[in-house]
Amino acid sequence: MVKAKKYVVTSRFKGMPKLEDFNVVEEELPPLKDGEVLVKTEWISVDPYLRTYNPHISLPYDQFGNQIGEVLESKNDNYPVGTKVVSHKGWRDYSVFNPNDSTDQLDRAYKLPDLQGLSESLGIGAVGMPGATAYFGFLEICKPKAGETVVVTGAAGAVGSIVGQIAKIKGCKVIGFAGSDDKVQWLEKDLGFDKAINYKTADVLKELKQAAPKGIDCYFDNVGGELSSIIISLMNLYGRVSVCGMISSYNSDSGQSPKGTLVQPSIVFNQLKIEGFVVARWVSEWPDAFNELVQWIKNGKLKAKEHVTEGFDRLFDAFVGMLAGDNFGKAVVKV
Ligand code: NAP
Repeated sequence: MVKAKKYVVTSRFKGMPKLEDFNVVEEELPPLKDGEVLVKTEWISVDPYLRTYNPHISLPYDQFGNQIGEVLESKNDNYPVGTKVVSHKGWRDYSVFNPNDSTDQLDRAYKLPDLQGLSESLGIGAVGMPGATAYFGFLEICKPKAGETVVVTGAAGAVGSIVGQIAKIKGCKVIGFAGSDDKVQWLEKDLGFDKAINYKTADVLKELKQAAPKGIDCYFDNVGGELSSIIISLMNLYGRVSVCGMISSYNSDSGQSPKGTLVQPSIVFNQLKIEGFVVARWVSEWPDAFNELVQWIKNGKLKAKEHVTEGFDRLFDAFVGMLAGDNFGKAVVKV
């Protein structure tokens, strides 16, 4: 019998999640049925959507999320002992499940892609869901052309840092917004952004006009709110906006969402195309994106920085740290 530890969410988050919103409990795992595997967790992802989903799920619930683990026992020929698996089993150290069963696209499991010697943790980052988000959300919706000006918010995070670098690979001029001067330095010096701006301290409109004298062609929106309204007001004719997320409002209590300046004048007169997406839309094509992302990382065109927190008992710290902006690149926990 294997005993597993898991985090159970017991409350509706109010503002930033609190430690007392979680209980860590032990449970005995059942013996394997045909098709099932026993997986020992190695890496766990902390992501903004764990905050977003909380108001919409019945309490209590096991904290879900992407993770990578190794098969220790198997009754599934396709997943023999030693196989590395990406699953949505979340904040737990051991799990038993059938990788072929999935209730929805988010909940599915798949074999860790061939990372060609790169850190396996990238399977929940640049070569996992966040990498696919950047790849498809930017390329399919913004359809960037060489020479165009691209703006990305949340630019130093898991998705944003990849979007900005893909935009550089495609020959665009890239402007990123992030929440500290250190992040601004990192984006400009290490990741090759043409310009980065600290949205917490800058006169955003003035600095953005200076940085983008020819206007903005593509905007990848991770944050929403007033920052996005200002960026959209500077877009060019036929500009494209990919709406990925709105993290500026995730910790707001319902009914208290931040307000932004009206964006419709720019949308109408500049004839903008604005499209939201959920990355699961392209799930059957993720493996193609993973191949290309691995190649870009291997040949030095793309840096996949990670912000690693060590220890199963520090998952909560990693989660709220990511929401508060501690992370450069993808926030992951090494179990
Ligand atoms: P991340 O950017 O690695 O981490 C979150 C970052 O958000 C923090 O580092 C922080 O950076 C920034 N942030 C926190 N509060 C903010 C605020 N009030 N205003 C502006 N920025 C704030 O997270 P991620 O996983 O890459 O996710 C980025 C966005 O993509 C999120 O909105 C997420 O929900 C969305 N997403 C959507 C999909 C989809 O399918 N549509 C899939 C994955 C992710 P600073 O220091 O810069 O503030």
